[in-house]
Amino acid sequence: MSYAYTEDQLGFRDLLADFMRKEVEPYKAQWDEEGFFPKDTYKKAFEIGLHMMEIPEKWGGAGLDHETMALIYEEAGYWDAGFGMTMLTTTVQPLKATLMFGTDEQIQMVSDVAVNGGFGCWALTEPNSGSDASSLETTYRREGDEFVLNGSKCFATLGAYADMMVVFATKDRKLGKDGVSAFIVPGHLPGIIVGKSENKMGMRLSNTASVTFDEVRIPAANMLGEEGKGMRIALATLNLGRFEIASLANGITRRALEEAVKYAKVRKVFGKPIIDHQMVTAILADMATTLEAGRALVREGMAAFEEKDPNVRIMASAAKLFCCDGCVKASQDAIQVLGGYGYSKEYPVEKLYRDSKILQILEGTQQIQKIVIGRELNKKY
Ligand SMILES: Cc1cc2nc3c(=O)[nH]c(=O)nc-3n(C[C@H](O)[C@H](O)[C@H](O)COP(=O)(O)OP(=O)(O)OC[C@H]3O[C@@H](n4cnc5c(N)ncnc54)[C@H](O)[C@@H]3O)c2cc1C
Repeated sequence: MSYAYTEDQLGFRDLLADFMRKEVEPYKAQWDEEGFFPKDTYKKAFEIGLHMMEIPEKWGGAGLDHETMALIYEEAGYWDAGFGMTMLTTTVQPLKATLMFGTDEQIQMVSDVAVNGGFGCWALTEPNSGSDASSLETTYRREGDEFVLNGSKCFATLGAYADMMVVFATKDRKLGKDGVSAFIVPGHLPGIIVGKSENKMGMRLSNTASVTFDEVRIPAANMLGEEGKGMRIALATLNLGRFEIASLANGITRRALEEAVKYAKVRKVFGKPIIDHQMVTAILADMATTLEAGRALVREGMAAFEEKDPNVRIMASAAKLFCCDGCVKASQDAIQVLGGYGYSKEYPVEKLYRDSKILQILEGTQQIQKIVIGRELNKKY
């Protein structure tokens, strides 16, 4: 395995960087302040296919491998993690899950929405079911050639804007995880009621909303994968999602490090730049170590995912755990290096800290990652 990225890989990364530099960076502090979802800017990004890079060419994407996607999601996290999460939610979750488990007709249906700039959504979490996802309460029943969905989801990224969702529901709660199936649900059907959008601490350029399904009818052909295998679909998709969330986290760490170093070189205290005070240098060195180690974990892990390595579940959880704890610590450290200015909204590092925190919670909390790793170790040795 070569550690040098190819010109093509770097070119795709730069495409995203150029877009973010011009279209997001100048406005993001204001959007963050207002909790504004910049729909038109997302549409612009989607028009040039920034959300389709990892989708095979056959389905309208650029067909990039996962290693390249790690580079791209790191770049997204560097500029704005909420923006990155919106791209990731549209692509990875509904579309990747359908690519992995769907029929050609289903893939066509979902990719048509994404190619035309639609937003995707992954509706798993419910008010009474987060970490314990298989205890969900949204139900489905079959009526002739249709399934009928009833229930409420919460914290759905892009819930208020979704053109296409993957929704998880149970036939009968008594069946536990074996009762759960996944469905492809067009976002604007009768009976879909969008609830409140969350007023969040961070990731304020992304939308997070609750969605209720009241007798929502979908064709029977929209069941994704086999009946009763919904949790398997959720978990397989989460493995990839965890690496991509870890990449976003690495982007936050990189930005935090860069801002801290730039500041440490110009801020003079006790007669010299703070970068020349060894205790400050030590903070920066720890941040750089977190970044390098995090990148290595993701890169190895993405290769393992590509090769269907049996160790991938441990690697995905380990990457998510390390990189997401790492970015919270790094952005906190960046505030420390900037001192009082770091705490002020005049500088970008307090936003990094607010954006970073959710990465310890979504895609399986850090505690759940440890449980996953523990279970795998128990099987392995
Ligand atoms: C901004 C944002 C975006 C999100 N996007 C999506 C999305 O697009 N789609 C979606 O479906 N969901 C989404 N979520 C939901 C997210 O995945 C859940 O919040 C997360 O899985 C945790 O569930 P919970 O909030 O119900 O916490 P709980 O499950 O109630 O957990 C509470 C605490 O208990 C701990 N805990 C739980 N079980 C155990 C255990 N067995 N051992 C030890 N500790 C445990 C947890 O680690 C946590 O610290 C999003 C959430 C947010 C805030």
